[in-house]
Amino acid sequence: MSDFVPTREAGLSRLHAFVPRASRYAEERNYDRPGVPTVSRLSPWLQRRLITEEETCAAVRATHPWNQAEKYLQEVAWRTYWKGWLEHRPGVWRRYGEAVTRLLESPPAGYAAAVRGETGIPGFDDWARELVRTGWLHNHARMWFASIWIFTLRLPWELGADFFWRHLLDGDAAANTLSWRWVAGLHTPGKLYLARADNIARYTEGRYCPEGLLATTAQAVVEPPLEEPGKLWTAEDPRVAPEGPVGLWLHPEDLSVETANLGGLTPAGVLALWPEELASTQQWAGPVVTFTQAALSDGASRAALAWDTECRAERTAEPGEAAVAWARGLGLRTVIALRPMVGPWLDMATEMEASLRRAGIALRWYRREWDTTLFPAARRGFFPFWDAAVRLHLPIDGPAPAPESERQEEFGAVRQTPA
Ligand SMILES: Cc1cc2nc3c(=O)[nH]c(=O)nc-3n(C[C@H](O)[C@H](O)[C@H](O)COP(=O)(O)OP(=O)(O)OC[C@H]3O[C@@H](n4cnc5c(N)ncnc54)[C@H](O)[C@@H]3O)c2cc1C
Repeated sequence: MSDFVPTREAGLSRLHAFVPRASRYAEERNYDRPGVPTVSRLSPWLQRRLITEEETCAAVRATHPWNQAEKYLQEVAWRTYWKGWLEHRPGVWRRYGEAVTRLLESPPAGYAAAVRGETGIPGFDDWARELVRTGWLHNHARMWFASIWIFTLRLPWELGADFFWRHLLDGDAAANTLSWRWVAGLHTPGKLYLARADNIARYTEGRYCPEGLLATTAQAVVEPPLEEPGKLWTAEDPRVAPEGPVGLWLHPEDLSVETANLGGLTPAGVLALWPEELASTQQWAGPVVTFTQAALSDGASRAALAWDTECRAERTAEPGEAAVAWARGLGLRTVIALRPMVGPWLDMATEMEASLRRAGIALRWYRREWDTTLFPAARRGFFPFWDAAVRLHLPIDGPAPAPESERQEEFGAVRQTPA
């Protein structure tokens, strides 16, 4: 049975089991030790917001002094940073998707062997199989894997990101795409991540040592210039109640809606749709689909319970029509939702919004306070964002962190001149 149970209850229980260990996180997190968790392994729950970044940080902060909690809080902040960064540049997600479609028409030599774990590179082959088998990889393994994929096997980063996207239980449009871009040297100009055999041997405690098999020099990947960061959409003010009865639409990007501030609105019904074609268009592996559907059901039952209302859960080929029929059945004038972020659920949401609008029903978008306050700071590099996160949500109660000039964006990153 999978180690990841798609309920909020299971996520909270893992969080509580992890919190006492969080003070050792900074020293242990780089080690990938099978069967001995050195990290929280909370990502599948966080990705669907079965538990939230905010409550995760609060639990760690409530138990440890700031200097012991800092590293963990910072890693959680990376997630919000990536989400906010992609919200400013939705074109990066579209460009990536187009590249995947184009590249898969005629995959390059070496692609099939890489995804089957048949390259002969120690570590890499096992991680490819581990990903498919378990739906999860340690962060350091993800970094090594991505780096070997790009710089040793010389495969397009987009196909590697797509392989992760298909299989990761925590697969996230922002964290996955942008982490691959970070490794490739596309996120921070001149900075890429080159995996080294001695680093792999050290942090896998000798399980793998691909000495002599990895690229030892690399040039950052290059691409045409990106769009300038755009404006963020403006969320509805939860203090202003819509007129008439409202219903709540729920999707797998936020499955603890009852913990968000929706201004005391009382939905007359909850809708949880599963678009039939989504899994095949995204090429999600069976366990990803099963996990997501079960998580959606868990979120929907809790929302219905929280507002003492009915939940309609439905598989449908036409989400827009299904939403209109549901809203009409309940006499709704407005549907409310926490808006999905850039990715496939947002594409579906905007189509649904158009169908509802044609039927004279408004769709009002809300955003969590955490995102509203932090996303504006995610336009540039991580450290200005982190400073904003500390100031707004994670106040320091001990020695201040090092100045920006002394901080490392990640361990092991090497500076290279882009080609
Ligand atoms: C190539 C590559 C692809 C990745 N793809 C994804 C992805 O699709 N989804 C995803 O959630 N994370 C992704 N990550 C980030 C990171 O590897 C995972 O979040 C982390 O390994 C999850 O394990 P954990 O819950 O034990 O993390 P912990 O180390 O315990 O951290 C706690 C939480 O903080 C967040 N977090 C930690 N590190 C990062 C990071 N570097 N970037 C963003 N968020 C972070 C996650 O939500 C995580 O659950 C990727 C990293 C790389 C290098």
